[in-house]
Amino acid sequence: MPTHTTHIPSFQRRHALVATTLALALGAATPVLHAQTPVKAVASFSILGDLVRQVGGERVSVEVLVGPGSDAHVFQPSPAQARLVAQSQVVFSNGLGFEGWLSRLLKTAGYKGQQVVVSKGIQPLKEPGHDDHDHQKKGHARGAHDHGETDPHAWQSVNNAKVFVKNIALGLCRADPGGCELYDRNARSYTAQLDALDGEIRAAWAPIPAAQRQVITSHDAFAYYARDHGVKFLAPQGVSTESEASAQGVAQLVRQIRKDQIKALFVESISDPRLIEQIARETGVKPSGALYSDSLSVPGGEAATYIDLMRFNTRALTRAVRGQ
Ligand SMILES: [Zn+2]
Repeated sequence: MPTHTTHIPSFQRRHALVATTLALALGAATPVLHAQTPVKAVASFSILGDLVRQVGGERVSVEVLVGPGSDAHVFQPSPAQARLVAQSQVVFSNGLGFEGWLSRLLKTAGYKGQQVVVSKGIQPLKEPGHDDHDHQKKGHARGAHDHGETDPHAWQSVNNAKVFVKNIALGLCRADPGGCELYDRNARSYTAQLDALDGEIRAAWAPIPAAQRQVITSHDAFAYYARDHGVKFLAPQGVSTESEASAQGVAQLVRQIRKDQIKALFVESISDPRLIEQIARETGVKPSGALYSDSLSVPGGEAATYIDLMRFNTRALTRAVRGQ
């Protein structure tokens, strides 16, 4: 790998030389090379963008394709975003069929850099609707989308996010070998924060009886969270927001809410709220607001980072199932 100094113009090289001389004169052990151009990274959606920033720190500039509040399931990249991808050195995606539009975008952009699928190595769950028992019943309602059989919402498990972080550090290291040590250090310290987050979420659910852990949401995005914390999420719609709920499915849900006295009813930030409102009218259960499934909030909002998102959802869920 060539050293950085071979590429900088003579004006800057002179400055680097002055800085080195100065550093030596001041007795510093190693001269610091300033004004390094950040590594250009692209993340497919906002939650992943935050994770890449946590690992990359100031050494990496991260652009997000599907921004806060937008729906990655049905995203259409713009020509400007294709140019952005073409100029980047590393592209991060979730994988598991989440970004059906990505391979075409990379092709259009003529992208030649590193590609990192961050879910590599996780234990994927099947889409609930593709379960053997449910397939015939629900299969038609969501026929048109192209997910395959895997549930893509893996980040809803903190343990999966730790795998994402490991893959991000490896990917950045491949794209920028000079930063490997830093990426590794950042990944370790962020993973420690994720461990603490996981403990916090488990502690929040611990006092709630299993039978009470039932929640209605408008899009089936929480299967990984459900698995981790023994929560049952019922949705009148499939895994992708492209699919439509059947009248029969809604009626069935209404019956179940009444029977099990379910108190928690959520509208997600990216989904059409009309369905949930209809269910609320028919059952008298008040909607508890929104959960964040596939997107962060806007910067400065209540779920502007992955950790804040998981905290926000957990607080909202544990309150709602208690009927608070
Ligand atoms: Zn989703």
